[in-house]
Amino acid sequence: MTEEEKKRISRNFIRQIIIDDLKTNKWGGRVHTRFPPEPNGYLHIGHAKSICLNFGLAEEFGGLCNLRFDDTNPTKENEEYVNAIIEDVRWLGFDWGDRLFYASDYFDRLYEYAVQLIKMGKAYVCDLSQEEIRSTRGTLTEPGVESPYRNRSIKENLELFERMRKGEFPDGSKTLRAKIDMSSPNLNMRDPVMYRIKHATHHRTGDKWCIYPMYDFTHCLSDSIEGITHSICTLEFEDHRPLYDWFLDQLGVHHPQQIEFARLNLSYTVLSKRKLLELVQRGLVDGWDDPRMPTIRGLRRRGYTAESIREFAEIIGVSKKESLVDIAVLEHCIRNELNKKAQRALVVLNPLKVIIDNYPEDLVEEMEALNNPEDLSMGTRKVPFSKVLYIERDDFMENPPKKYYRLAPGREVRLRYAYYITCTDVIKDPKTGEIVELHCKYDPETRGGTSPDGRKVLGTIHWVSANHCFPAEVRLYDRLFIKEDPNDVEEGKSFLDYLNPDSLLIKTGLCEPFLKDAKPEQKFQFERLGYFNVDMKLSKLGKPVFNRIVTLKDSWAKIMKSLQNESY
Ligand code: ATP
Ligand code: MG
Repeated sequence: MTEEEKKRISRNFIRQIIIDDLKTNKWGGRVHTRFPPEPNGYLHIGHAKSICLNFGLAEEFGGLCNLRFDDTNPTKENEEYVNAIIEDVRWLGFDWGDRLFYASDYFDRLYEYAVQLIKMGKAYVCDLSQEEIRSTRGTLTEPGVESPYRNRSIKENLELFERMRKGEFPDGSKTLRAKIDMSSPNLNMRDPVMYRIKHATHHRTGDKWCIYPMYDFTHCLSDSIEGITHSICTLEFEDHRPLYDWFLDQLGVHHPQQIEFARLNLSYTVLSKRKLLELVQRGLVDGWDDPRMPTIRGLRRRGYTAESIREFAEIIGVSKKESLVDIAVLEHCIRNELNKKAQRALVVLNPLKVIIDNYPEDLVEEMEALNNPEDLSMGTRKVPFSKVLYIERDDFMENPPKKYYRLAPGREVRLRYAYYITCTDVIKDPKTGEIVELHCKYDPETRGGTSPDGRKVLGTIHWVSANHCFPAEVRLYDRLFIKEDPNDVEEGKSFLDYLNPDSLLIKTGLCEPFLKDAKPEQKFQFERLGYFNVDMKLSKLGKPVFNRIVTLKDSWAKIMKSLQNESY
């Protein structure tokens, strides 16, 4: 085994379990996983970890992975979420063949299993209210109290359960409970509820049912029915595993192995559906697909690719230990990919006018620019150059500090793909003192950005030609929260108190001409500014709107920061 393979295995302990199972032929050589979302919200990057894990392992070991909707709560679930989830998993690059399932497809069989448990004396109808069940459940140090209905006869239980199904009782008046052990040290084993009464219309089964099975009962049996081998879930279900095993053992059916892993927590982000829903409902973001949201749709709209998300899921690994993953890791993945793939472009976000006094008035030259210096096969393009240009305001300083290598009075710099220019004059607004334009001279011998006399310049800056550029909306996104872990709230505060007020800055960028034809979801590197994606919702034909995905790892930014100056 190579070092790289060893590393891959050690990054993901479930991979090792599967390798061992294949060796011992535990499942007859089968690997069958599933991804079981509840359709009560949109998928986020945490779900992506689980999707990549389940589908990825199946793919890697020649197995299968099912997509199964865990749709047992009719009041919170709907079709909109189902469709969005299907689209998002597909977009991530995974395929479930003809194995799209719904837990609700199994309602008849689950009902039969419940009847079977009643007949075995392992389940009973209980008349305690939800509140009473909770208060008789006991604590970690005290056993629970047995329900007065615990010893109903099998016959009575069968009759009552049947009547529950027929709709004879109001919501909450009865439940079906597993008869296990009210003094078990594991609270999940203290006669957990299997069915509750809910007169609600289900998005798939309509009004056929007014009793709905609980997650723990449904999940293990759905896994069993589908012949799952490795039932992978997050750590909070570790304490539920004895119950998962109990139902399957009692019924003597196919028994997958439940394996728990640590969920993803990402810095400067929340990944709870409830909190994400709150952001949407309060209008604090522009819907589930807001480019600042950690949802798959948000990430996609921001400009993350499926490949970068899958790469992220692979490199963060899978373990049993909870941790907070730095969002910079995710940002690294997209930078890494786009550095190799993204077409370069020249865009100016904070324009400062530059007039090249010794350049002919009506001349327009076509400068040859590399489309991607990392991949010369992407070729070159022509960028128009003329007498009046725009550069970034940040690229000029009247009194430059040490280590500032860009334009300053009397200083020569290179205009990317064009000429060397030297600043000869600074024009200011007489009232405000603000710099309104620079006058420069260019050296015609330096066309293309090199000097025949070998003269070097320290800085290279980007530019656009005033007469040729066009304005476009450019949306600069930053992290949604200012606190590294916004889930960790101080007393009396809410996670909403840590929202970053500057998470979206809308600017008008001056763009080089070819960008006019940019299509939704096309990605670019705006040289020195970052990676940008054409927004799929706001852009119109010939009027692209750009979302900044991430900045570049720019050494300037660091230096400017240490100088306490504005930087981009
Ligand atoms: P809920 O609190 O509503 O149950 P959930 O995020 O667990 O929310 P599910 O739809 O039940 O939502 O999740 C589907 C699958 O994704 C589950 O197997 C769950 O364990 C997994 N999952 C959810 N959040 C994360 C996360 N942050 N990291 C890894 N896996 C996750
Ligand atoms: Mg869940």
